[in-house]
Amino acid sequence: MDCLFCRIINNEIPSTKVYENDKVCAFNDINPKAPVHILVIHKEHTANIDETTEMNSHIFSDIFLAVKEIAELKNLSEYGYRVIINNGNAAGQEVFHTHIHILGGKKNLGPMLQ
Ligand code: AMP
Ligand code: ZN
Repeated sequence: MDCLFCRIINNEIPSTKVYENDKVCAFNDINPKAPVHILVIHKEHTANIDETTEMNSHIFSDIFLAVKEIAELKNLSEYGYRVIINNGNAAGQEVFHTHIHILGGKKNLGPMLQ
């Protein structure tokens, strides 16, 4: 399977990694929508939430534990921050490897949907 984010995990495509452990990695979004815009992905490939099962639901706990770590590393909790998952076509999901966006670094991130 040719997956952009699996290739980033394997360092076959360059990225600016900001966090990594044995389960997840996180890197700067190439097209940032806020002063801090980080993508967090699991090293286990699933396309999106639709593929979640009892067997792989650790993907989300692993990701969210990393979100908390990254928020601390990047000092995001002072202003607060937003996490977004675009799930499927209506949400504009472009990369079909489960990922969450962390957006922050400014006092007001604007409305949730415009
Ligand atoms: P989504 O619409 O939720 O699937 O978001 C995919 C995100 O991946 C977009 O915000 C893109 O800017 C970002 N993106 C695409 N290619 C790369 C890349 N090579 N490195 C970092 N971010 C990327
Ligand atoms: Zn993948």
